[in-house]
Amino acid sequence: MQRLPKALQEVVDHFASLPGLGPKSGLRIALTLLNMPTERAREMGNSIIRLREALCVCERCGLLADESPCAICRENSRGEEQVCLVPDWDSFLAIEEAGLFRGKYLALGGLLSPTEGVQSSNLELERLRSRLSEGGVREIILALGSTRDGEATESFIRNMIDREFPHIRVSRLAQGIPVGSDLKYVDKETLKQSLQHRQPLE
Ligand SMILES: [Zn+2]
Repeated sequence: MQRLPKALQEVVDHFASLPGLGPKSGLRIALTLLNMPTERAREMGNSIIRLREALCVCERCGLLADESPCAICRENSRGEEQVCLVPDWDSFLAIEEAGLFRGKYLALGGLLSPTEGVQSSNLELERLRSRLSEGGVREIILALGSTRDGEATESFIRNMIDREFPHIRVSRLAQGIPVGSDLKYVDKETLKQSLQHRQPLE
């Protein structure tokens, strides 16, 4: 995309670099913004800035939130005994949207991935340890997906809990999650079923 005015080109480039978009959609979005009433475009720009400034990571569960501890961590009607361990925000959203789980969450900050150089030191293991050390958790539900990285992480976490917190039950989402899939792409109903029929890990 050549010879656009510089300011327009900049915006096109920003949008074109986003997942699922390219130069054409970048240009379409930029032109839409250009045709918007100034006030609306300003509000949109400000909301992007606020996104970075106002969001925080909940110190208790590691998920994105407006404040820390987040609303879910503070919600008394959600039990403390069950904690669902998710790799990241997307997986949390998928499970939350399935609408069955009424416990608390903890984000691991990713999955072990030898190919991408993610090691156990990159994961939020201390957050997990400190949560389990509090003594209120009876069951950890591993919701790490069934990709190779997810499975590797699952067995790593399971060994760690068996070793350090042998009294805590470890379960995983039931089969039914297609092999190789990332939780965020699994449909709601499957997710619900797999949570309901989760399997204890012996
Ligand atoms: Zn939280």
